[in-house]
Amino acid sequence: MKSKPHILILGGGAGGAELAARLGGRKDCAVTLVDRQPAHLWKPRLHEFAAGTIDSTLSELSYYMLARMRGFHFEQGKVETIDVATQSVRLSGPHAPGGHSAAPRELTYDRLVVALGGQTPDFGTKGVDAYAVRLDERADADRFRARFVAEMITARQRGRPAAVVIVGSGATGTELAAHLRQVESGFFRNPGERPTDILRILLVEAAPDLMPGADDRLRQSIKSRLDALDVETLTNTKIAEIGPDGVIAADGTRYPADISVWAAGLVGNPCLKNLAEFNFDNRGRIIVDSRLRTSLSPQILAIGDAACFTPDGAKAALLPTAQCASQQAIYLASAIPKMLAGKEPPPFVFDDRGRLVSLARAGSVGQIGFGRKNDFLVKGKFANAAYKSLQRRHQWTLLGRLRGGVAIFADFISPAKGAQLKLHR
Ligand SMILES: Cc1cc2nc3c(=O)[nH]c(=O)nc-3n(C[C@H](O)[C@H](O)[C@H](O)COP(=O)(O)OP(=O)(O)OC[C@H]3O[C@@H](n4cnc5c(N)ncnc54)[C@H](O)[C@@H]3O)c2cc1C
Repeated sequence: MKSKPHILILGGGAGGAELAARLGGRKDCAVTLVDRQPAHLWKPRLHEFAAGTIDSTLSELSYYMLARMRGFHFEQGKVETIDVATQSVRLSGPHAPGGHSAAPRELTYDRLVVALGGQTPDFGTKGVDAYAVRLDERADADRFRARFVAEMITARQRGRPAAVVIVGSGATGTELAAHLRQVESGFFRNPGERPTDILRILLVEAAPDLMPGADDRLRQSIKSRLDALDVETLTNTKIAEIGPDGVIAADGTRYPADISVWAAGLVGNPCLKNLAEFNFDNRGRIIVDSRLRTSLSPQILAIGDAACFTPDGAKAALLPTAQCASQQAIYLASAIPKMLAGKEPPPFVFDDRGRLVSLARAGSVGQIGFGRKNDFLVKGKFANAAYKSLQRRHQWTLLGRLRGGVAIFADFISPAKGAQLKLHR
């Protein structure tokens, strides 16, 4: 008897995990999801893990549990290489303390989806690797939080504020700044009374304005909220070097920092370059066609931050967002079965639903689209609900309608909500 075609998905992030959940349980194919981590984390809230403000029991979901619930196989391991000729992928690990490791192995595929995400580049800036924190994965967020707690306690003892300098004013930088202001009260001696000497936050941007690429009204709204949170901002300031105790601008000005955060830009995951001879854009992302196929092989597709897709007639490729990764997962969940049946699916069309930023107690703000325009500025409860809905939809997709509905409701009414500083691991 002929075995079912095997769909192998590399990376269980915003795009890959959704695709596995959508394709899992189908009768006409078998699905395997690979990730180096044992649990799925929703990356758009990584800054909340870093700040310690995350308050959801659904913020991390075991891939092993999801696989059982949604009818796919999960294989934990690091993707090493792809062999196009034999249609196989080589994995290593996971590695356990004491030098123990799982045996290296190979998985074959009929269709392969690369969804390995991206990484913050240092643009060749000296000292980023040695002295700055980047927020690319859970381990980075955990390291940041441990440092932050130590610096805040020290600041309270010595009476000089802890200085956090964040380089890059995109979503990661601005949201992290706002969430740090929210948790600082955990270190006040007198609750409700904010000392002036406990935390100084500086957000530095190389471009002339905060949040490059955002509309002027959104930018102004974010700036006034950051001002209200007492987050200092500096634009037109290119950072040339990160040192052990500060960041140094191209004009030589030094900004003291107890913790420096590097949150400038995004490129494709550097591991992509070692996988196979893909065609890359200048940000190291795999170039895909209108059906999200790579030029290396029509059997290999790529989505999310690992992929570079430029819609017909557009001047630039789509931005690397969870919104885009999720829409590409929805698309492939219906396109791959068609491809396996020898049919040509319709092209992928991105529906831009706008941009939302959550600034902790300063509220959420964003621009959402109606029709073909993204010109509706939203604030307050509506923006907050819209911001959370992206993750809720994602949880719903991963967990399924019934279980997802119950779990989301339980999470919503959880008495553990609202913690200012959770020292979770
Ligand atoms: C702080 C922050 C805030 C953000 N806010 C928003 C927002 O508000 N809205 C929005 O739309 N987007 C937001 N984003 C962007 C969004 O998180 C990403 O665009 C999205 O997660 C990309 O999804 P992905 O599936 O391509 O990759 P990811 O979600 O990054 O997943 C990649 C997966 O691949 C795995 N992996 C990596 N390398 C290997 C390997 N060698 N072997 C095995 N597994 C591997 C990783 O463990 C991970 O699970 C934000 C990002 C950050 C950091």
